[in-house]
Amino acid sequence: MATNRTFTMLKPDSIENGNIGNILNMITEAGFAIKAMKYTQLSEEQAKAFYEVHAERPFYGELVEYMTSGPIVAAILEKENAVSDFRTLIGATDPAEAAEGTIRAKYAESKGRNAVHGSDSDENAQIEGEFHFAATELF
Ligand code: UDP
Ligand code: MG
Repeated sequence: MATNRTFTMLKPDSIENGNIGNILNMITEAGFAIKAMKYTQLSEEQAKAFYEVHAERPFYGELVEYMTSGPIVAAILEKENAVSDFRTLIGATDPAEAAEGTIRAKYAESKGRNAVHGSDSDENAQIEGEFHFAATELF
């Protein structure tokens, strides 16, 4: 996967709060093209594997429980400078610290239930995209 792609999930709180349309609109308005997308629910095994890097952190159990609590929307997005620009669009992890107008400032409930995921590097964007999508699901 090239450096012009990133991976996102609209997390369970976004779906519960009826924000799928609002958030996808912000993403496309910001110039990201949707290359792959699915509405799905993570199993405990999938959530544990996806967040493996945080396994030793105190919030890991809660994070896995939350991420498996309901459906998510997973997507691969394309734009020049995708990873960095998408992190800017979503804002800081904690919505209290997220810049005004960012997705998390508008829609996140808390540092844990924070509306969206965004890959933090090109390498992780590729790994995370491949975690959720087969090559035949990418357009
Ligand atoms: N998280 C949490 N408590 C924390 C830090 C993170 O519940 O103190 C959750 C939150 O949902 C976050 C995810 O774990 O989005 C992954 O954490 P990371 O530090 O990678 O934040 P992100 O890259 O999502 O901004
Ligand atoms: Mg992260």
